[in-house]
Amino acid sequence: MYDVIIRKGFIIDGTGAPPLKKDVGVADGVIVKVGDLSGEGAEEVVDADGLFVAPGFIDIHNHSDSSIFTVPTADNYVTQGVTTIVVGNCGYSPAPITDNNREFLEYSEREFIKEVGGIPWRSFSEYLDRLELLEKSLNVVVLVGHGTLRSAVLGVGEVKPSEKHLDEMKGLLAEAMDAGAFGMSSGLIYVPGMFSDTRELIELAKVVSRYGGIYATHIRNEGVGLLDAVIEAIQVGLASGVSLELSHVKAAGPPAWGSVAKVLNLIEEYVGRGYDFSADAYPYTASSTGLDALLPAWVREGGAEKMIERLRNPDSLNELRGFLARYGIPEEGHADWDKIRISYSESHPEVLGKSIDEVSRMWDIDPVSTIARLLVEDKGLTGVVIHTMSENDVIKAVSHPLVAIGSDGSVMKLGEGVPHPRNYGTFPRVIAKYVRESKVLNLPEAIRKMTSLPARKLGLHDRGLLRPGFKADIVVFNYYTIRDRATYENPHVYSTGIEYLVVNGRLVIREGKHTGAKPGKLLRRT
Ligand SMILES: [Zn+2]
Repeated sequence: MYDVIIRKGFIIDGTGAPPLKKDVGVADGVIVKVGDLSGEGAEEVVDADGLFVAPGFIDIHNHSDSSIFTVPTADNYVTQGVTTIVVGNCGYSPAPITDNNREFLEYSEREFIKEVGGIPWRSFSEYLDRLELLEKSLNVVVLVGHGTLRSAVLGVGEVKPSEKHLDEMKGLLAEAMDAGAFGMSSGLIYVPGMFSDTRELIELAKVVSRYGGIYATHIRNEGVGLLDAVIEAIQVGLASGVSLELSHVKAAGPPAWGSVAKVLNLIEEYVGRGYDFSADAYPYTASSTGLDALLPAWVREGGAEKMIERLRNPDSLNELRGFLARYGIPEEGHADWDKIRISYSESHPEVLGKSIDEVSRMWDIDPVSTIARLLVEDKGLTGVVIHTMSENDVIKAVSHPLVAIGSDGSVMKLGEGVPHPRNYGTFPRVIAKYVRESKVLNLPEAIRKMTSLPARKLGLHDRGLLRPGFKADIVVFNYYTIRDRATYENPHVYSTGIEYLVVNGRLVIREGKHTGAKPGKLLRRT
């Protein structure tokens, strides 16, 4: 007797092999049989005739570290067919907390604290215990952030660690890995990760490597300095032996366009020599981050409070104005204020969706004054969407066999701000736009990049394939109707085409609707 039988769907097993029409039988959260199940009964039978059946999608680059606690039904992800998210990316995780970084983390978690009253953990293992206890609709894999580890020992200033500091960071990292983290991430354009040097990263990556974890890096520069930044990541990989993941591979700003192919060639080269290097990407030509990330390091050093002081000071603001006029945004080597749109602003909801240029005209001030005003009044937490990539580079990244699909988004409530549409549409968009419409990828290959590729990278040995003995994370979708509907102007729209979603053997989506079930698990590295 089965719990669930999915009948007569086209099975795409996640290996990249072409589809075959078969039934899938699930019992006790596990795929028991893939084959002919006619004559067998189940508590729930899904008629998948005409539909495609694949392993649930794994989002290898996600930022729901704390928002999963406030939106545990993860509606904007399960409606994309996602059954597992990997959080703790870009150098940031909300643990471990020490006296050195309490203020920094409480600041970053302001929204979360507003909803739940306070951060109910300190150590990394306490954070994982909370994630484990939480009833949630999808599985969660956690990385520990290098920036968080650094801040836990050194605070958020521009300082170099002594050997003793480095040992303390290694100790906290080992604790996180012991507790079940799958690796470490870095965010080398953010405070405080930007103040680290290559040696610090190598020393920490050695610890990750010892545990067999991954090192996922938001590299130091994704624009004019892209290749140098990739080479630094490769150095860390070579010197530590760690499994390297280049996060959200892209070429930001017209001077860097065309470079993605070079990055991918480099990765290929080292994979050819036996290294475990890979990358992930999302299928959009715009990126999204904090407005503060566009400013030079000297403005941001020491954290938000110090940055706000500098932005309030007419002299340092003038210095910034001169800097941006001469050099542009540090990463991009120029500044295109009409390509940068406000996605989040607590103090000025009227500017959401508008460009820095448009807001400057509204307020009748220059763009740098606009940026300063927003950051000061939002207390540093203004969000932006930046139209910065070329479609050719996006196609190169998304279609490359070593690049998994990662959304770089997070679970969220319908209707808050004007976020990047990737939060709602990443996975269906790859299938709709790059498989069905432009055919730069075939369907089994696209599915492989969403399933077995990230599962193997992470060492999730019982997920990512539709095969007996594997955990029953299964998506059933309509190839002809699957699509992203979220746009830059109107992002809070769920994707369509995901007809059924099974997480650990239980239906989270039935006939396109969330069932309310919360069978998701915290997965720990073993
Ligand atoms: Zn990032």
